[in-house]
Amino acid sequence: MKVCACVKVVPRAEAPLRLDLTTFRLDRTVASEVSPVDEFAIEEALLLRDALGGDVVAVSMTPESGVEALRHALALGADRAIAISDPLLEGSDLVVTARVLARVLQRESPDLVLFGSGAIDAGGAMLWSAVGELLGLPVVSGVRSVGVDDGRIRATRQTAGDEIELDAPIPSVVGLSGSVNAPHYPSFRDIVQARKKEIATITLEDLRLGPEASSAAARTRVLSVSPRPPSEREPEVIEDGAGAADWLFRGLEGRGLLPGAVR
Ligand SMILES: Cc1cc2nc3c(=O)[nH]c(=O)nc-3n(C[C@H](O)[C@H](O)[C@H](O)COP(=O)(O)OP(=O)(O)OC[C@H]3O[C@@H](n4cnc5c(N)ncnc54)[C@H](O)[C@@H]3O)c2cc1C
Repeated sequence: MKVCACVKVVPRAEAPLRLDLTTFRLDRTVASEVSPVDEFAIEEALLLRDALGGDVVAVSMTPESGVEALRHALALGADRAIAISDPLLEGSDLVVTARVLARVLQRESPDLVLFGSGAIDAGGAMLWSAVGELLGLPVVSGVRSVGVDDGRIRATRQTAGDEIELDAPIPSVVGLSGSVNAPHYPSFRDIVQARKKEIATITLEDLRLGPEASSAAARTRVLSVSPRPPSEREPEVIEDGAGAADWLFRGLEGRGLLPGAVR
């Protein structure tokens, strides 16, 4: 079973999100990391590999400054990583990113393509659909558990009220929810071994892609990024021992979040 886990390299959580006002692009020169939600995709790929054998390949389209961050995916256990890195891709949008990832995935020809639940810096949560469309593959999204049975994938999706069971052929594209598993921490040994693993860095030319897959083909531009305005409602502080449990209960009940039988 060959599983490709698509991961985005994003500015580290503690780095300020800064917009370059000349290019209208997010400043990606700050320290970066594999998007924490994409660790779920790596972890799920590893669980499938442990159960069924095979390979896990981490795939990322990232600026050159982000390539080394993929070492983390290797430390978590991915067998190898592919970084698509090309100055012509700076300022790409969803359409361009999907075209580039689809080409790499076509070449890799995996049994399963896993995506995290959404990039933490942009949060479009659309990429798996666009990639699935370009590859002509089924897409299963919002997945809370995934397994393989009789040559097909079995997945569950949790909605507000139900759990839905889904079945799709192999190969398929799977978008995971943020509660699919609990990613492990790599050990010191894993981190050292990751230094010996391969990160293949490839360009648009290597993929035989032309201007239609460069940022020049992007149809959207980010015009500004600003911090979320502070909430207009002041937080209410309830000290423990001063009726906090009762306050919480009434609050949940008042919002209809408790079934009637609880009391
Ligand atoms: C603040 C901001 C706003 C943006 N708004 C838009 C917009 O409105 N429209 C638009 O077209 N573009 C937009 N972009 C650009 C956009 O971030 C990228 O083009 C991206 O690929 C589109 O998906 P996403 O980041 O929203 O990822 P999502 O669709 O949220 O990502 C879902 C999953 O896809 C995978 N993934 C995401 N990016 C990559 C990658 N580079 N390599 C490998 N796997 C990946 C991960 O598994 C991730 O969990 C924006 C960028 C920023 C910084």
